[in-house]
Amino acid sequence: MTSVETRPPIIIDEPDDSFVEMIKKTGGPNIQNCYQCGTCSGSCPAGARTNYLVRGIIRKALLGLKEQVISAPELWYCTTCYTCQDRCPQDVRPTDVIKAIRNIAVAEGYMLDNHRKTAAKVVEAGHAVPLDKDMWRKLRESVGLEPVPPNASGNPWAIEEIRKITKKSGFDTLIGYEELRKAAEEKAKKKKE
Ligand code: SF4
Ligand code: SF4
Repeated sequence: MTSVETRPPIIIDEPDDSFVEMIKKTGGPNIQNCYQCGTCSGSCPAGARTNYLVRGIIRKALLGLKEQVISAPELWYCTTCYTCQDRCPQDVRPTDVIKAIRNIAVAEGYMLDNHRKTAAKVVEAGHAVPLDKDMWRKLRESVGLEPVPPNASGNPWAIEEIRKITKKSGFDTLIGYEELRKAAEEKAKKKKE
């Protein structure tokens, strides 16, 4: 065991003083109202089942621990149920704060793979949950619905428009769409061999 005296200091993160201002501008203007009462975490269904602690994320954000906050997988455990938002006595609007931090995280290259894949579906099929399997179509027909709903999924021109928008807005670059597309192609090729 290393003695406390000789142990080197643990540098957790370099505080970034601009982080709070970024959050305030990105959708969490009231973050500095937080007085750490814990009502948010005590009400949080995601925190009841995981190590996600919304109060802790807000505290770290207020301390400027930007890298630690935006790179943590827990940031994505919030279900955006808004219970904390309803109950916060300081009008911090914790759900909005989490969403603001997520936006900052994505802009800086931190995103869960499954979210990237879901976003890629929007580029490919114009819908985050496309009905690209026969079983969905059959299920819809079995309850008297048309096989494809009247949205972008059934309209190739609409999908083209969506692709133009994702390209022009930089959304495809943000999610690394080309990289995902090539990986999917490789996978399909290997499957055939
Ligand atoms: S409920 Fe509001 S004031 Fe209390 S810890 Fe959570 S965000 Fe901060
Ligand atoms: S919105 Fe997110 S942080 Fe707030 S209670 Fe729901 S799951 Fe927890």
